[in-house]
Amino acid sequence: MSLDWISRAERLDALPPYVFARLDELKVRAREQGLDLIDLGMGNPDGSAPQPVIEAAIAALQDPHNHGYPPFEGTASFRQAITTWYQRCYGVELNPDSEALPLIGSKEGLGHLALAYVNPGDVILVPTPSYPAHFRGPLIAGAKIYSIHLSAEQNWLIDLTTIPEDVAQQAKMLYFNYPNNPTTATAPREFYEEVVKFARHYEILLVHDLCYAELAFDGYQPTSLLEIPGAKEIGVEFHTLSKTYNMAGWRVGFVVGNSDVIQGLRTLKTNLDYGIFSAIQKAAETALQLPDKYIQEVQQRYRTRRDFLIKGLGELGWEIPISKATMYLWIKTPMGQGSTEFALDVLQQTGVVITPGNAFGEAGEGYVRISLIADCDRLGEVLRRFKQAGIRYQ
Ligand SMILES: *Cc1c(COP(=O)(O)O)cnc(C)c1O
Repeated sequence: MSLDWISRAERLDALPPYVFARLDELKVRAREQGLDLIDLGMGNPDGSAPQPVIEAAIAALQDPHNHGYPPFEGTASFRQAITTWYQRCYGVELNPDSEALPLIGSKEGLGHLALAYVNPGDVILVPTPSYPAHFRGPLIAGAKIYSIHLSAEQNWLIDLTTIPEDVAQQAKMLYFNYPNNPTTATAPREFYEEVVKFARHYEILLVHDLCYAELAFDGYQPTSLLEIPGAKEIGVEFHTLSKTYNMAGWRVGFVVGNSDVIQGLRTLKTNLDYGIFSAIQKAAETALQLPDKYIQEVQQRYRTRRDFLIKGLGELGWEIPISKATMYLWIKTPMGQGSTEFALDVLQQTGVVITPGNAFGEAGEGYVRISLIADCDRLGEVLRRFKQAGIRYQ
């Protein structure tokens, strides 16, 4: 029942409509009609968390010490595991007490960081397309978003020279993410060096999302922002256990970097939540300590799927460059079709769910994102259905 005597907070009105909502409606209807849906829409990994992680969680559940409120700042042993992992993977030295903070998934932290740092009207730089939390968090906080347009011609890399001088002067934060969701783009080390120089010159807080750090292929090794000298003075970096370790439902991630910023976020969170169930922190700690062999298996799994789908879609007319990282393909819609129109058309004709590129901002128009979250048997079925329905590029 609608209430006419009370209105929602204006901050909710600032949010653009969620493109996923219409897709969801159609998904429900398709399921009711008995259609066998293949959902490649969300970045929601298929399969289970690693067995040692599950066992660590079970053991932690048996310990009553883990059943109370967890410490606000996260357990000491998880924070230690985070900083040890950073040292091992990137050679970056971090203080586990002041420079690392566990999060209830990185989306929670990305959003709350905006609430901790953005005043209404502050200018925040966010690329388009981008992961929705990177602009929705600041919008909820009342930010004025300056969209940095990414394009295929620039390999979806931020071109800092396109940011006008007065905007750079006013800007307070820059959100960015490589390897990139949704475009699958990667950034060379020189890019990070440029960004750090830019941020120091204009006094802009860098917020880097490195959530696809381990999902990289063919020998490519992503760069951490914190590897760049001076980055810790002006930046933070977010991570998640959701993707690499199939733990999306467990809700655990973390942020590392500048201690002042970490303290600001912690102060806000102390007023809003109690952190992560200690048993889950124990499990996350175990995940970060898994041998490299586990990561290699995950990489192999996504690489096989990537190659399979790129080849199959190639036979249907798509020329898709081989992505060096992430769990997605980012493909152009066939001539003249809008993102939403094409995604809905594919769903109705084939029961395959893909994400319209405009869900990631206006510059995603003309593209769709396909998540590699099904095995090759299932992806083969996707290709068969595309063929049968005559869905091809041009
Ligand atoms: C999936 C994803 C996340 C992960 O969010 P969690 O809340 O940790 O599950 C964060 N950033 C990007 C860019 C993502 O694609």
